[in-house]
Amino acid sequence: TPRVGVLALQGDVREHVRVLTDLGAEAVTVRRPEELSAVDGLVLPGGESSVIDKLARAFGMRDPIRDAIAGGLPVYGTCAGLILLADRIVDGIRDQQTFGGLDVTVRRNAFGSQVDSFEVDLDVPALAGAPVHAVFIRAPLVEQAGDGVEQLATLDDGRVVAVRQGALLGTSFHPEVTGEHRFHALFLDMVRQRAR
Ligand code: GLN
Repeated sequence: TPRVGVLALQGDVREHVRVLTDLGAEAVTVRRPEELSAVDGLVLPGGESSVIDKLARAFGMRDPIRDAIAGGLPVYGTCAGLILLADRIVDGIRDQQTFGGLDVTVRRNAFGSQVDSFEVDLDVPALAGAPVHAVFIRAPLVEQAGDGVEQLATLDDGRVVAVRQGALLGTSFHPEVTGEHRFHALFLDMVRQRAR
C-alpha cells in the first residue's frame, strides 16, 4: 500500500486525503520534515500558493520538500500545488517562491476576476473513459513548458492545464472536489513505479 502525504499547511487537504483513501492508499498529513521523510509520494493541495509558500518557509519545510523533489519523490500539485511545483511563476505576490522541479512557467490567477471560476469537460488521452469534469477556481495556466514536459490536457483554445514530467504531476484544476479519482489513480501508479 503506497503511503502518500498531503502537505497540510493550508488548502483543501481533507479532500485529497479522502480521494487517496478511497483509492486504497494510506493517506497522511505532512507538516514536519520527519513526516515528509516517511512518505512514498506527496500531494500539494489547492489553496493559496503564496500562503503555503510562507508557511512552508516558517515551518522549515521548504528545503526538505525541494530536496525530496530533487531526489525523485513523486509529487502531485493541484492548482496552488501546481504553482508551487513550477520552476517559474508570473504574477506571484512580492517575494513569492516555489519549490520548483517542473520545468514550466505558470501564470497565477490566469483567468482574471471576470471568470474567477468555471467548469469544463476536458479530454485527457492519458486517462481511460469519459472526459474529466474539471473545476477551475482562480486557477493558474501553464504558459510555457520545457521539452521534457508532457501535456496531459488543454482547453479548447490550446491553453495547457495538466502536465507531467518524470515523477511530477500538475493540474490547474481540482479533481479532488468533484469526485474525479483518475488523476489520483495515475499519481498512485507513479508512486508505485518509483517505490519499486
Ligand atoms: N489563486 C490561488 C493561488 O495563487 C490558487 C487557487 C486554487 O488553488 N484554487 O495559489
